[in-house]
Amino acid sequence: MIGPMDEQAAALEARRYRELLEAAPDAIVEVDSKGRIAVMNRATGALFGYEREELIGQRVELLVPEKQRAAHVARRTEYSGHASTRPMGLGMTLSARRKDGSEFPVEISLSPVHVGPDTRVVAVIRDVTERRRAEDAMRAMEQQFREELAAKNAELERRNEEVENADRLKSDFLASMSHELRTPLHTIIGFSELLAEQIQGELNPKQLRFIEHIRRDSQHLLELINDILDLSKIESGRVDLRLEEFDPREELEAATEAIRPAAAAKSLDVSTDSGTTVVLRADRVRFREVLYNLLSNAVKFTPQGGRIVAGSELSRRPGFVRFFVEDTGIGIPAGQTEAIFDKFHQVGSTTKGVREGTGLGLSITRHIVELHGGRIWVESEQGKGSRFIFTMPLRDSAHVGGGAE
Ligand code: ADP
Repeated sequence: MIGPMDEQAAALEARRYRELLEAAPDAIVEVDSKGRIAVMNRATGALFGYEREELIGQRVELLVPEKQRAAHVARRTEYSGHASTRPMGLGMTLSARRKDGSEFPVEISLSPVHVGPDTRVVAVIRDVTERRRAEDAMRAMEQQFREELAAKNAELERRNEEVENADRLKSDFLASMSHELRTPLHTIIGFSELLAEQIQGELNPKQLRFIEHIRRDSQHLLELINDILDLSKIESGRVDLRLEEFDPREELEAATEAIRPAAAAKSLDVSTDSGTTVVLRADRVRFREVLYNLLSNAVKFTPQGGRIVAGSELSRRPGFVRFFVEDTGIGIPAGQTEAIFDKFHQVGSTTKGVREGTGLGLSITRHIVELHGGRIWVESEQGKGSRFIFTMPLRDSAHVGGGAE
């Protein structure tokens, strides 16, 4: 027996469910075992463009595009055989049909409900037009980005090739030019030296002075050409280090001996100070070149009576040892201690009166040190002197490359 209170409660509950159904943003329809629409919410009418009266009691196929109706009937029959809650047509695009015949993409989930002996199906239908559109737009945008990226990459590759080509041309040009220039320069230097020796005849003092100018400037030109060629080889990565293991003290002695005559001419005191006994693994010739460059700069930029010391000491960086070349010369202004390692950079005004070189020596020197995985820098006080420091890799060092100094 159902009492009046129960009836009232049941009616209240039915109304609450109705409200819930109507509040849903998705279309919800209940279809009976014969495929007819038994219940629908307001969203269904709005989505498909029908009035409630036009749909209730109609076959649900009314909402399916004509071409798919037959297949839908078959699938519906199959579903009622073993009904379970699941999304319909997983992984495929489903279409629905409005009253006006237009079609739109939907996502549908199905749940069986038992109403007395009848097994009905509740379908929740969601219009995914907007989502599809957003997905399509996203895909199009992605495709466009991918194409633009590919085009940019191709362009970059082409430019790279151009640069490489130009670089090779430049190097080839420099190599052949320097050969062409060096040959006649050797002739000029050789014959001016011969003339200066006065074996072929005596020269008056003026002629001697002229010949000395010719010889000195030709020599300078030759050095410049050699440096440019060397730097261009290093910069284009065409220099291979010939690594060997050796005691750096031998090279330190050799390099100081090489500059001793020039130092003696200025009454400079030159000494070595090896604070460490180590074995390097480096390019011996290039290492001597670094020392020689730094030492000849020290001679060049230290006034009469000064002192020059070259030596080695411990490095804070494992696997490396430090070398230094210090002088009591004119020093380097604080703002220029980095720039002097750039090519063609010369301090200029402060070195007035001192005959400068090519401005390439320190640049080459830095390249050589860095090729070895080392670092070079200078500590200096203007008017007091400079201390050039560089690091070189030790034998059995697993630390080449990176690190603090
Ligand atoms: P350069 O051929 O002019 O010596 P470098 O590249 O060897 O070219 O040196 C660049 C500049 O750095 C020099 O012209 C000079 O101004 C400065 N410099 C280099 N070494 C010293 C030093 N020991 N003392 C003072 N200035 C120096």
